[in-house]
Amino acid sequence: MSVFEVVNPADESVVTTVEELEAEEVDAAVAKAQAAQRTWAALAPADRAGALRDFAAHVDAHVEELAALEVANAGHPIGQARWEAGNVRDVLTYYSAAPERLLGKQIPVAGGLDITFEEPMGVVGIITPWNFPMPILGWGLGPALAAGNAVLVKPAEWTPLTAMRIAELGAEAGLPAGLFQVLPGKGSVVGEALVDHPDVRKIVFTGSTETGTRVMARAAAHVKRVTLELGGKSANIVFADSDLEQAAASAPYGIFDNAGQDCCARSRILVQRSVYDRFMELFEPAVSGVAVGDPNDEGTEMGPLVSEAHREKVASYVPDDAPVAFRGTAPDGPGWWFPPTVLTPSRDDAVVREEVFGPVVAVLPFDDEADAITLANDSAYGLSGSIWTRDLSRAVRVSRAVEAGNLSVNSHSSVRYSTPFGGFKQSGIGRELGPDAPLQFTETKNVFLAIDSTESPS
Ligand code: NAD
Repeated sequence: MSVFEVVNPADESVVTTVEELEAEEVDAAVAKAQAAQRTWAALAPADRAGALRDFAAHVDAHVEELAALEVANAGHPIGQARWEAGNVRDVLTYYSAAPERLLGKQIPVAGGLDITFEEPMGVVGIITPWNFPMPILGWGLGPALAAGNAVLVKPAEWTPLTAMRIAELGAEAGLPAGLFQVLPGKGSVVGEALVDHPDVRKIVFTGSTETGTRVMARAAAHVKRVTLELGGKSANIVFADSDLEQAAASAPYGIFDNAGQDCCARSRILVQRSVYDRFMELFEPAVSGVAVGDPNDEGTEMGPLVSEAHREKVASYVPDDAPVAFRGTAPDGPGWWFPPTVLTPSRDDAVVREEVFGPVVAVLPFDDEADAITLANDSAYGLSGSIWTRDLSRAVRVSRAVEAGNLSVNSHSSVRYSTPFGGFKQSGIGRELGPDAPLQFTETKNVFLAIDSTESPS
């Protein structure tokens, strides 16, 4: 059996080691999950709802512990890590209402009664990335369990600790043994074994578009259902008629949150040419004001990058001759730090087209509304974005024209558990969260009952 080291990105110390599963062990996990799923699905809906509420309450009692674990494992600032643990609690609470509200339909037909049932799929696999280990796990887990499924989670190699602890909390809260298991290991081993397993009926994959493409191709061999949440290159569009002070003050949050390791990061800031210089004047102090440092410090806004390899990838987008407009500060090390960095490249540069997934933002001028829309849509991705304007008609026009799944006007808010989340184009397939998410984990069954309409003779 092999183990891998989990390293603290802020100081490069080894936090712990984790046993890595082999492909054969996935078979046993699936068999255990199938048995647990039958018990779970047979419970009265009110009892499943109660079990999810108990689980949420148990997570709530461990928010501080989970947050501290994420600080050590992923280098997330403590305030952010608390939000992430709380998000798991909130998602479980929100979907605890679903078992009793998963309604079928009664459809008018001739000769009988026609009704639909939303049946659980069985065992669902969730493959998560390292950037938001807790929330992304929760977004699949809550609705999948609520719909009566068992869940097997393959966490990212660099960040398995919070997922493993949340599975323990689920068992302590009384979930049937094996209903929710975490399977640490390599994507090419455990991830592929889940995708290939005939009894894993659906895969929710969150990660890079490159890996997502491979997962979808493998899943096709089994006609396996997939939800894919992939990369992004979102635009933050600032019109001349916006509150420019507010747009500039909030732009750092739009890109540097989670050190830019955010699929919704607004990594392209598009600014109307007539206010471009003024925006940059306002943006510079906002960038140098980002508090980068010890993730355990309550005042820290940005921590390190997740790993040395990832820092090298981010740095490759900022060579010595890069068009750097200005930068913030970052500690020297140990730890995998990278300062908030603002570039002014041309429209076709790689840094404008590719997902950097770090604290690097490209600022580009545009001429008018049509040019802004063209530029925003000139991307293979379509996940998120922001529109800054005081003109309500423009806000609606541009929101409708931008090809992205999650837009916000005069805000950088992207994710609320009660609203749907997901991408256009190469940013993914399907939607998570929102009221309809449990239906992503059911198969609709239609049943027709013939009715003899002649009165019985008695
Ligand atoms: P990644 O694609 O490298 O890995 C994601 C997960 O897939 C990991 O658990 C990995 O072990 C596993 N994996 C790797 N190879 C696999 C294979 N062949 N079969 C099955 N599983 C495999 O992504 P990452 O670097 O961990 O995460 C960063 C990426 O995730 C970015 O592109 C980011 O935009 C994206 N992301 C998207 C969303 C969203 O909701 N759209 C959210 C967060 C992150």
